[in-house]
Amino acid sequence: MSVQERLIKPAHLIDMDDIIREGNPTLREVAEEVTLPLSDEDIILGEKMLQFLKNSQDPVMAEKLGLRGGVGLAAPQLDIKKRIIAVLVPNPEDAEGNPPTEAYSIQEIMYNPKIVAHSVQNAALADGEGCLSVDRPVEGYVIRHSRVTVEYFDKNGQAQKIKLKGYNSIVVQHEIDHINGVMFYDRINIAEPFKVEDGLILLD
Ligand SMILES: [Zn+2]
Repeated sequence: MSVQERLIKPAHLIDMDDIIREGNPTLREVAEEVTLPLSDEDIILGEKMLQFLKNSQDPVMAEKLGLRGGVGLAAPQLDIKKRIIAVLVPNPEDAEGNPPTEAYSIQEIMYNPKIVAHSVQNAALADGEGCLSVDRPVEGYVIRHSRVTVEYFDKNGQAQKIKLKGYNSIVVQHEIDHINGVMFYDRINIAEPFKVEDGLILLD
């Protein structure tokens, strides 16, 4: 049985044991495009990936399943060499602690996502990045495009084109890197990890 066949079984919930860690060569490979129309197997895998992110952000489920919180997951992190990513970025509570009107600023499964345009301006998260496949802190600014335009196919097989900025832009670029065999620390300036180049936007 393939990894994908195992992960898409109805009773299976993706957990940390399904996620491969740095050192596994799959994380350094360029993943294959998925075929359109999407197969049921690829649709279900995408749904399972998004469900993992939801569980990882739910305190009860995360505790029960022993999950690290995550906002993005790419199929190669499950040892599946396909160009599929899921992203789930929650909106914050308001100042009084009330839940946001919209729960998520982005909630999407993307098949064959591709950056088709980007800003000249760069951005990085002020606190750096983490990764479910990296079990150690890596400090430094991860230099990315500030804004990107991404084309992809959604779970219905419809072509989509979105413009992203801020945190969502960073998350989607991190996940697209995974399907190209790139790790976030590849984008840190090793000699000067906290160097602020001209025009670099630091995001809180
Ligand atoms: Zn990652």
